[in-house]
Amino acid sequence: MSERTVAAISTPQGEGGIAVIRISGDEAIKIADKSFRAFSGQKLETLKGYSAAYGEIVSDNKVIDDAVALVFTSPKSFTGENVVELSVHGGKLVARDALRVVLSNGADLAGPGEFTKRAYLNGKLDLASAESIMEIISAKNETALKISRMAKEGNLSREIEEITAEILKLDAAISVYADYPDEEIEGLDTPTFLKTLEKIEENIKKLLETYDAGKVIREGVDTCIVGKPNVGKSTLMNVLCREDRSIVTDVAGTTRDVVESTVTVDGITLNLSDTAGIRSTEDTVEKAGVERSVKRLNNSALVLAVFDVSRPFDNDDRKLISALGNNAIIVLNKNDLQSVADMSLFEGKNTVSISAKDNSGIQKLYGEIEKTVNSRKISGDEAVLISERQRNCAKRAYESIAEAKKSLLSGITIDAVGVLIDDCLSALLELTGKRVTNEVTDEVFKRFCVGK
Ligand code: GDP
Repeated sequence: MSERTVAAISTPQGEGGIAVIRISGDEAIKIADKSFRAFSGQKLETLKGYSAAYGEIVSDNKVIDDAVALVFTSPKSFTGENVVELSVHGGKLVARDALRVVLSNGADLAGPGEFTKRAYLNGKLDLASAESIMEIISAKNETALKISRMAKEGNLSREIEEITAEILKLDAAISVYADYPDEEIEGLDTPTFLKTLEKIEENIKKLLETYDAGKVIREGVDTCIVGKPNVGKSTLMNVLCREDRSIVTDVAGTTRDVVESTVTVDGITLNLSDTAGIRSTEDTVEKAGVERSVKRLNNSALVLAVFDVSRPFDNDDRKLISALGNNAIIVLNKNDLQSVADMSLFEGKNTVSISAKDNSGIQKLYGEIEKTVNSRKISGDEAVLISERQRNCAKRAYESIAEAKKSLLSGITIDAVGVLIDDCLSALLELTGKRVTNEVTDEVFKRFCVGK
């Protein structure tokens, strides 16, 4: 347990119903008793865990605010330490003043993520679960929230445990082999050994694949809408957002800059930007916008390239078509009007015919978006790698086990293969935080906000 008792405001800064000052550490209840006076006269130290008292925050006999003190005694608290949560009225100044009282009575200001870090250090959660708490806080859509919740419940850790159990069995067999090299050890004949390694490799690979798909769900897909002026980009953007974000006008070149918006389509969050029309132009202001558009085209994960089928295609359209990659969906807009465009330009490409004006073909467009960005579906119940750190650990584990497999096939000694298997195990134990350096732990919690 840590020597310092720490405190911070655990609710967002701003106006709200209540603000909570959380205090954690050996001295938490003593410090709370110095800062809080219950109307009943009872000291918090005499309360059992999970009890509340109503009273006021006082400093030099001056009342700061009414408060409710909630007492948790070690180890039955979020951090595993003594914890007091003081709920005061939800205003920035009130919460700040209450925190000052607590700090003046002996608490230190908590660092970013310090409460969660203490929970981790006191065995309340593993590193993967701690990371998932951060994801729960920042979840942008239902699936992301579900994935983070499942990770917090430990399904990622359980999955890793299943894989490590297999590795530990192998490790045990290799140890026996080291002592009795002439004996036939169960599981270490080459075909069985290889099969076990393949199974471990396959399971880690499956887990690795969840990272990219999970990232799409958590962070959304950077999507840009491109096309010549007046083809209907802003109208499409508005259809997707179901609100007027972009300027829709008949004058070519009016969407001069990038308009950003976030929209969730069938569980996928799109970070949309409607860019200035791509067109050869002499207008310097518009030119800057066009350059930005082309840059976006290259930097976006998904491109919705809009064309107006009611007009013949020209060189600008051809230029755009040739600039598009696999991440693009060609949106043939204005299909409510007579089509005069040369469709042969799109042969073999991913096209959807819509009318942004009449809202037709939009469901089909959603289907194409889903197909293009989400090649691997995540159910929300499965174990998903949710941080770059976790992905790096899993990647190291995968590379070690692949190397072990290769070594075994090339006839290297079982001991040497065992070393590679141990590397794989270390990487997985680092993933869940069972074997991890202080630097790694510090790095994880640095990303948290103060108060969490
Ligand atoms: P942008 O310059 O590409 O953003 O184009 P806008 O969205 O501003 O649209 C230009 C013009 O085309 C506006 O008058 C829109 O109402 C019209 N427009 C957009 N989509 C459609 C469509 O599907 N059908 C028809 N008939 N007109 C459309």
